Amino acid sequence: MPTTLPMPSTLTVLKRGLLCRCPNCGKGRLFKSYLKLVDHCDACGEQLGHIRADDFPAYLTIAIVGHIVVGGMLAAAQSGVPTWAGILVSIVVTISLTLWLLPHMKGAVANYLWRLKIPKGSVEAG
Ligand SMILES: [Zn+2]
Repeated sequence: MPTTLPMPSTLTVLKRGLLCRCPNCGKGRLFKSYLKLVDHCDACGEQLGHIRADDFPAYLTIAIVGHIVVGGMLAAAQSGVPTWAGILVSIVVTISLTLWLLPHMKGAVANYLWRLKIPKGSVEAG
């Protein structure tokens, strides 16, 4: 049974999502694996497993990582860094930053969807 708490602000919910925490209480974990949402919060019991963030977290991650990596490559090219070194660093930064950022983006999007109170099953993929 979910604990009744006052509805947190949108900013609070987004912060909790970026920290991969429950949107309702901010204490329970949001994920049971890398990108799989828990069915319900361990701390407050809020139902979370029905939230479908779909591809939007991936789009956000691509946009952020793309701007960082492309900016870094342009700066490296202008400063005379060898091309092979720029490419090697870009590959490592792209992979590691993407893997780190994706769950945080999914947490923010899932928590925002929770804040919008989208009814269960209303955003099913077609
Ligand atoms: Zn909770």
